[in-house]
Amino acid sequence: MPKRTSPIINFKSVLLLVIAVFFISAVTIIFAHKKPPAPKPATTKIVAKSRQKTTQKTLKSAVRWSNANARQAVHNLARKIGVRTAGSSREHKAARYIEKRLKDLGYKPKKQAFRITGGRKSYNVVAKKMGRNRKKQFIIGAHYDSKRLSPGANDNGSGVATLLELARVLKKKSPHYNVVFVFFGAEEKVGTNPNNHHFGSRYYAKKMSLKAKKKTKGMISVDMAGYGKTFHVRSMKKGTMRLVNSLRKFGKRKKIRLTYLKDPGRTGWSDHEAFENAGIPAAWLEWRNDPTYHSARDNFSHIQWSRITTTGKFLYGYLR
Ligand SMILES: [Zn+2]
Repeated sequence: MPKRTSPIINFKSVLLLVIAVFFISAVTIIFAHKKPPAPKPATTKIVAKSRQKTTQKTLKSAVRWSNANARQAVHNLARKIGVRTAGSSREHKAARYIEKRLKDLGYKPKKQAFRITGGRKSYNVVAKKMGRNRKKQFIIGAHYDSKRLSPGANDNGSGVATLLELARVLKKKSPHYNVVFVFFGAEEKVGTNPNNHHFGSRYYAKKMSLKAKKKTKGMISVDMAGYGKTFHVRSMKKGTMRLVNSLRKFGKRKKIRLTYLKDPGRTGWSDHEAFENAGIPAAWLEWRNDPTYHSARDNFSHIQWSRITTTGKFLYGYLR
């Protein structure tokens, strides 16, 4: 027979039970909130972090250079799209990505189609920013294709990233003269003939009117801006050295060491070639040396982001 319990004991038990239930619920709630988030793959983390930083910086100052944006661009080109050989579907995908980014920034980009050896199509993506003085212009170019087997993070995701971020900052603060951004297709060699390269830039220079050529104060190719100890300005030394000298002078004023290097051989080593041959003051900005050049190791993780920042800020200062 069960023992009869007094009403006092009964009240105490109920009170203890209520306290216990309350305590357990509280502990459960605290632990549920403190539970660490599930680990995400590295790539997602980078994207999320970049977005967060971009937003913060956009809020602080709309014209400040964003390293996170540059990282995002190299990530999209070298990791998401990957190897972008001239005329391939992935090269075309990169052109569409650049076009979309420019549209998002408020530009009206145009695609210029051309053919490369073997009959395949490639494209230049062109966007223009009007300057305070509209009588003259600078052409700033970067190729977005890459060598076979190479994701081309430095060669030349770095140049594209520099131009895209430059396009964003110059959208907010107008440059002195007009700036024409040209993202060149098919810069790298196609096949075995050493002269079968620079298709996009050669086509662009060939299609320029005499008026446009006269209007151009200079063409700067940004190619391999993301790795190396030394910052270089280069040319074939065939044409005028006006732009090269002006860039070096600006570097001196800003205490940025810019060493001159002549392209070896008869043809140029980047997209400045066609412009220099057309009589336009031309130069190539490049950081050296990158041991992963044209290999599968030229990937996102080996980029030295400070190099892209220096290159971008240098150009921003020069064009402002
Ligand atoms: Zn290159």
